[in-house]
Amino acid sequence: MPDTVQSDVEIAVAGGSIAGLCAGSALLAAGFDVHVFERSVGRLSSRGAGIVVQPELMALLSAIDAPPLTTTRCRTRRTIAGTSGKFQEAHMPQRFTSWEAIYASLRDAFPEERYHSGKTIQIVENQTSGVLVRANGDDMDARLLVAADGFRSAIRSSLTPETTTQYAGYIAWRGVVDEADLSDEIVDFFDDTFSFCITGNGGHALCYFIPGDGLVTERGARRLNWVWYTSVDEGDALNAIMTDRNGKQRKAAVPQGLVNANALEAFHYRTAELDDRFAQIVQTTRDPFIQAIVDIAPPAMVFGRVCLLGDAAFVVRPHTAAAASKAAADASALAHALRNDGPDIGRALTAWQQARLPIGQQLVNYGVALGERSQRQGAR
Ligand SMILES: Cc1cc2nc3c(=O)[nH]c(=O)nc-3n(C[C@H](O)[C@H](O)[C@H](O)COP(=O)(O)OP(=O)(O)OC[C@H]3O[C@@H](n4cnc5c(N)ncnc54)[C@H](O)[C@@H]3O)c2cc1C
Repeated sequence: MPDTVQSDVEIAVAGGSIAGLCAGSALLAAGFDVHVFERSVGRLSSRGAGIVVQPELMALLSAIDAPPLTTTRCRTRRTIAGTSGKFQEAHMPQRFTSWEAIYASLRDAFPEERYHSGKTIQIVENQTSGVLVRANGDDMDARLLVAADGFRSAIRSSLTPETTTQYAGYIAWRGVVDEADLSDEIVDFFDDTFSFCITGNGGHALCYFIPGDGLVTERGARRLNWVWYTSVDEGDALNAIMTDRNGKQRKAAVPQGLVNANALEAFHYRTAELDDRFAQIVQTTRDPFIQAIVDIAPPAMVFGRVCLLGDAAFVVRPHTAAAASKAAADASALAHALRNDGPDIGRALTAWQQARLPIGQQLVNYGVALGERSQRQGAR
């Protein structure tokens, strides 16, 4: 929106990515006067590539009449044992999508005049009856602030400074490769599967097809999304990998095109630990990127008239395939609680927190358990 000064709002949402748009859309559909404020300017670009489709997200998209989500499908889960070439298969249908596809559905469904780009939200005063927030120097009163400002949430840090980011001891190398850049043999092998490769170093890799450029899903136009989890000790080893091409020390992720040459060379060398076909997709990928695996679990999601939602609340490990669906479920539950207890926001927030806090904690624990199991499995 070409931005004018925003007058007071009923509900302000800080962050206009997936969680912020889920919250904005669900609250709007429930009849609230809600505005979303996003720090970045323009449409957001890809984060995280492939996403496994979960029912909570589909339920929210359907409830808000969003344009259909573009998805790909598979019927088989395949697990390959290291470089042996041997694999096992099970019938396990799954749908996949991409960050871009989810963002496009949510953004297209949300009214432009309620989405304010280039606005950074800060809390001025968190009172019992509402919250005074500042958006790029302009103050406004809101009855509620929904903080959906992501895994490095400054709002969470200001409300619960004791909440720490725990490095899990391993990173994810990630990438997407155009199907057209792969041989027919590789495409045929991975088509219709969610494939895993258990490596001998305490890690594993996985891949699946996602929509391609322009959200096209026809064979030949899709992308193959892959992730390779690998142990890296905290300290010098991690710092060396997380220092980007320009010498900047990154904490959470090294974006596409910014991985330093030494890290990339060592990474390519290590593809010998992978099944040949996995190694080929990794080596064909132009710009892999890195995500440090972390756990974040705040003690509460509600602080006065501010609530934390999506990654701003709990950061769960990617093995759960539940981060985006958690954001959607947080948002749907918030809209439901406020609609039921609308006049009494305090009661509604208490009910919402009682429902969502244990789920966030359980998902963090589940991610830790899955991570430990897969690291052990790989190390065998
Ligand atoms: C590399 C990577 C890979 C991922 N892969 C998967 C996956 O495979 N499956 C899955 O389910 N999830 C995945 N996720 C997580 C998933 O993308 C998120 O859980 C989901 O998108 C919800 O994110 P979010 O909206 O809470 O936070 P973000 O997407 O981080 O968005 C936060 C937004 O808030 C804005 N912002 C920050 N501060 C302010 C402020 N003060 N005021 C206004 N705006 C602000 C930021 O600019 C940003 O747009 C991945 C994440 C990453 C980083």
